Amino acid sequence: MRVLVAADDGLSRKILEDYLNSWGYDVVLARNGKEAWDILREDDRPNIAILDGVMPGMDGLEVCERLRSLTLPKYVYVIILTALSSIEDVVKGLVAGADDYIIKPFNHDELKYRLKIGERIIELEQRILCMASTDYLTGMLNRRAFMERLTGEINRARRQQISLGIIIADIDHFKRVNDNYGHQSGDLVLQEVAKLLLSSCRVYDFVGRYGGEEFIACLPAASIEETYAIAERMRQGLESQPIPLLDQHTKVSITASFGVTGISGGEASADELIRWADDALYKAKNNGRNQVVIYQ
Ligand code: GH3
Ligand code: MG
Ligand code: MG
Repeated sequence: MRVLVAADDGLSRKILEDYLNSWGYDVVLARNGKEAWDILREDDRPNIAILDGVMPGMDGLEVCERLRSLTLPKYVYVIILTALSSIEDVVKGLVAGADDYIIKPFNHDELKYRLKIGERIIELEQRILCMASTDYLTGMLNRRAFMERLTGEINRARRQQISLGIIIADIDHFKRVNDNYGHQSGDLVLQEVAKLLLSSCRVYDFVGRYGGEEFIACLPAASIEETYAIAERMRQGLESQPIPLLDQHTKVSITASFGVTGISGGEASADELIRWADDALYKAKNNGRNQVVIYQ
């Protein structure tokens, strides 16, 4: 885990750096508040910050206040380390948004275990974030996480004037799988379909579970022809590989229908793209299923 240490006094920085290294942390050093603030504004900011409460220019409390005014994708756990020891000082630090306040001279074991509190909070957040973005059954991105990434990719495609492909897949007559073999078998089939779809993509593509038996893939920088080709690869893969059920004797033949769309340098919102892909999917279903249709 990366920890920022901000202190204007070189000896304090060195002592903290040595302790933290010996406890297994990756240390990033800042010589003053301004440097600390610059580091905390970077996208790959450290997870924990130990800020000296008293520094010339911008002090640790101001750095902390500024940090808390940002909307960050991940939490930064802040410890203020300072010689200012009155209860008013402690309260000021907490009001500035610090998670913890340690008074100098500090006991190294106390710092070690207070850092562990921070680590637990950061790890808890990472677990919650992971759960909140993952589909429980398939381990894929869930709809919310997919839409978030899709929006980012659409913005990037617009900025860089590059294309982007979208595939929506819907398993054909999936209800029959549940009706004939039970819900558990249905779940297993969904897991296997998810694996096949993921393995049909390129490394920078991402796939999510859009709804019950519907999946959605985003193919950054792919032309409509490339997107079609990958959807066709998915379709053929499903068609040609019956899925063994838990008893290992029964195999279920599955097909799916696919709607394909994309942008090539032009503009479209995530909602529009999904509407177009859905429209094409609807046509694929109506034309007899087990096929890929490009939105016109
Ligand atoms: P179509 O070819 O028109 O898409 O037919 P379909 O049967 O696939 O579509 P329909 O929308 O009628 O049924 C979808 C089924 O998917 C109904 C629902 O019970 C099932 N389903 C949705 N989510 C899950 C799940 O998590 N597990 C299981 N086992 N079944 C699910
Ligand atoms: Mg459906
Ligand atoms: Mg279906």
